Amino acid sequence: MPRKKLIAANWKMYKTPQQAREFMRAFLPLVKGHTRDEIVVCPPFVCIPVVVEEAQSGIGIGGQNLYWEKEGAYTGEISAAMLLGAGCTHVIIGHSERRQYFGETDDTVNRKLITALNAGLTPIVCVGEVLEEREAGITEDVLRRQVVNALREISSLQAAPMTIAYEPVWAIGTGKTATPAIASEAHGIIRDQAAETLGAEVADEMRILYGGSVKPENASALMAQNEIDGALVGGASLDPKSFAAIVKYQS
Ligand code: PEP
Repeated sequence: MPRKKLIAANWKMYKTPQQAREFMRAFLPLVKGHTRDEIVVCPPFVCIPVVVEEAQSGIGIGGQNLYWEKEGAYTGEISAAMLLGAGCTHVIIGHSERRQYFGETDDTVNRKLITALNAGLTPIVCVGEVLEEREAGITEDVLRRQVVNALREISSLQAAPMTIAYEPVWAIGTGKTATPAIASEAHGIIRDQAAETLGAEVADEMRILYGGSVKPENASALMAQNEIDGALVGGASLDPKSFAAIVKYQS
């Protein structure tokens, strides 16, 4: 069975609730009736209610982060129950910007992944090497380590709904895109490691998205790769026309 592709927007720290509403009102008519791929929008927390209100069924909505405790004195954090209660279906975990600026580690990614899976949110777990690691020839080691550590103490059954996003850090927001061949090779390594850790059946069904300067101009070539099961799109997802053009890439 071919895996249905998933195209996810990561709005990062962009858009007020009013701007989010305007986006949805411009974007939805552009993708009306589009069922080939799954669409997920991950807005800033305060925009989630507006996006939920505007979205038609069939569009997933994701948080960009969560904390592993149920509730408590954790100022500034957000729980799985809060995301679910606000209407989220998905959550991004371990984005490289969180690893780089907010102290996320393989260990916190693992704790957040367990929390999301237990809560019934579909996690989009980000992995990827930095430029120095690629240049040092250790990309494979880095990807295998990130996947193994993210999946610690998670059973195959539990892990089944998760999605992984391969996001080479050197390609995020830089305008540099991994070539389809580079992305495909990395996806193959990630799937191979997932198979070793979780078994071939789960790994075979798991979606692995590519993220890193995906744009309308390069989406078709990337999505043509069998190993690439969709995209996590940052900058180009902020404009309704450009995100719709990515969703509707030529296959
Ligand atoms: C991202 O934020 O996950 C991302 C891939 O950003 P960009 O598309 O801007 O490189």
